[in-house]
Amino acid sequence: MLAQRTALLKSSGIAAACAAAEAAAANGREIIDLTAGEIWSDLAPTIREGAIAAINRNVSRYTDPIGLMELRQVLARVISAETGQPWSASQVAVTNGAKQALFNVAMAILNPGDEVLIPAPYWTTFPDQTVIAGATPIFIETRHNNFVPRLTDLEAALTSKTKAVVVNTPNNPTGAVYSRETLAGIAQLAIERDFWIIFDECYGAFTHAPHIHHSIVAVAPHARDRTLIVNSFSKSLALAGWRMGYLAGPTAIIKAVKELQSLTTSNPNAIAQHALLHHLASDDPAFRLELQGHISNARALGLSLLSSLTWVPPPRAEGGLFFYLNLSELQFRQSDYGEFIADEVADALLMEAGVATVPGTAFGDPTGIRLAYGIDLELLGRGLQDLAKTLNAWK
Ligand code: PMP
Repeated sequence: MLAQRTALLKSSGIAAACAAAEAAAANGREIIDLTAGEIWSDLAPTIREGAIAAINRNVSRYTDPIGLMELRQVLARVISAETGQPWSASQVAVTNGAKQALFNVAMAILNPGDEVLIPAPYWTTFPDQTVIAGATPIFIETRHNNFVPRLTDLEAALTSKTKAVVVNTPNNPTGAVYSRETLAGIAQLAIERDFWIIFDECYGAFTHAPHIHHSIVAVAPHARDRTLIVNSFSKSLALAGWRMGYLAGPTAIIKAVKELQSLTTSNPNAIAQHALLHHLASDDPAFRLELQGHISNARALGLSLLSSLTWVPPPRAEGGLFFYLNLSELQFRQSDYGEFIADEVADALLMEAGVATVPGTAFGDPTGIRLAYGIDLELLGRGLQDLAKTLNAWK
């Protein structure tokens, strides 16, 4: 009875890890949950004020399918500042989170049979949405190159069917931040071999010195007309549940996306749009800086605690909200665990340390494990101490 398409819909490994953590907690156990890429924070005062003011003005009607014109204009100004290029509202769509922006992209550019290059380890939504669009993900291994794709590997994977490359920096799950040189190389390849760049910079607000987040459009302005910028306020303003993201790209794509959104969600939530508009218009960096300070403190605490790990090298954590641990040495020490060491380690951490993590199998990497560190500092400290004890006792 169900459409064949539904066979392609599998629940993500991240969702499975969250569910395992919830099940353990439901049994009365204290579980420190490092699974979700979210930041624990109060609302920005300007978001709260903007939302309440919109409610008090009785905001209740549909907006334009791709968002309020004023909001798109403000976003165009933000993107112009970030890329050093002029952008207009006609090149921006407000979306229900970056996830919808990415889905719109998949629907707007992919034909069945097309191929999309995806550096691995990867955030699962990238290949899953590619498959739903009838296209094929082509994974580019990055583990041997500090989690950054080698140009030669990308080049070797190109075929006449290559339609796009996914560039996610700072990266989920690996924490790698791509350099200017890497971005310039990818942009050049995309121009020479004529494919799209899907540029996901959702974690751009969290990049740790000396690493710097660069927009690929700022690095390679001549690649702009083949770049689709995807961004989100889920992380940068700790607003994950409000579903505010955007897509910026050529007008023809934004027009198609307008039709798509009008057919699927009509518009992003109006109150959330007004709140975001109020926040952006107030142009007060205080909340953003406070959040960045929190993440930077959490990272420093985490790196210091993880430095006590015996068999696991320090994670990169150049940007984003994640420590990504390489478990290869543990695997080597205990061959019983075989290929799927990450699943075994995640289970042991949940059962023995009461710490929930996401095994790398969720990201196409059976030897890694992801720890999200955007939580309360005291909990993070306790969780990582217990995690280190369990991993150091691994035999
Ligand atoms: N891109 C990446 C790389 C992500 O990790 C996420 C969230 N986990 C998103 C996009 C989607 O974010 P949202 O839909 O909440 O804006």
